[in-house]
Amino acid sequence: MPFDPIHLAEKVSRVCSRSTCGSSERMVFDHRDFGSPAPGAYINLAGCCLRCIFCWVPHHALEPHEGVYLTPSEAASLLLHRARRKRSFLLKITGGEPVLPGTCFQHLKAMLEHVEDALKGATVVLETNGMLLGYDFDMCLDLAAFSSLVVRVSFKGCDEEEFSRLTGAKPEFYRLQMEAIANLSDAGVSLRASLVSSFSTPSSIELFRVKLSEVYPEVAKELELEELYLTGELKKRLEERGLKYRSYRASKPSPEWI
Ligand code: SF4
Repeated sequence: MPFDPIHLAEKVSRVCSRSTCGSSERMVFDHRDFGSPAPGAYINLAGCCLRCIFCWVPHHALEPHEGVYLTPSEAASLLLHRARRKRSFLLKITGGEPVLPGTCFQHLKAMLEHVEDALKGATVVLETNGMLLGYDFDMCLDLAAFSSLVVRVSFKGCDEEEFSRLTGAKPEFYRLQMEAIANLSDAGVSLRASLVSSFSTPSSIELFRVKLSEVYPEVAKELELEELYLTGELKKRLEERGLKYRSYRASKPSPEWI
């Protein structure tokens, strides 16, 4: 049954964050460790408001009920420690979905403050599915305060129907991804966009690029195409949902495969 991702975000935010003595804590999980060949240092925040069929995140981390809770300063220290180990000034906040409402968002902002205070000259990439940033313009305004920040919106599908089949969410929420681009741009936040392209035809990708360029031409020009590895497990899930893996070869390869 297709679901409302904003409603799910509120529910998930409550289970993967908590307030303690005037501070906040957010659950963190790890599936990319220190040895990851991907550039930069990562922190993975638990919880998500979508349920993508290709999701590489362990299921228990999408709607967690137990795990490691970290304060903003502890989460920032973990990320900074990893950056030092890699001698990198590229820091990535990902998940799950880092941008969830309520306590989760307060935690994210406090964590960004700690990171910016501790490491001058860094670039912090916030990877998001864009649902909340398309829904709530004030969140984008809050993020505009962080000069080191680049928000990378990862589109799940080229259109409403593909989005719904890939994520399980109601098709009408597809528009929130495009609205995230418009909101971030209006708020003055640096941004990039990527598209999971393994299930799309070349023509639907080009049509998507045109739609994106109507909202933000520069972002459309730099669109990253994300190709997925077709594992045995993914193949099984796709067959069950009647989805076709097309493995469209990106003309502009994404810097990292997912
Ligand atoms: S948005 Fe990302 S973390 Fe959330 S379900 Fe989709 S792939 Fe997984």
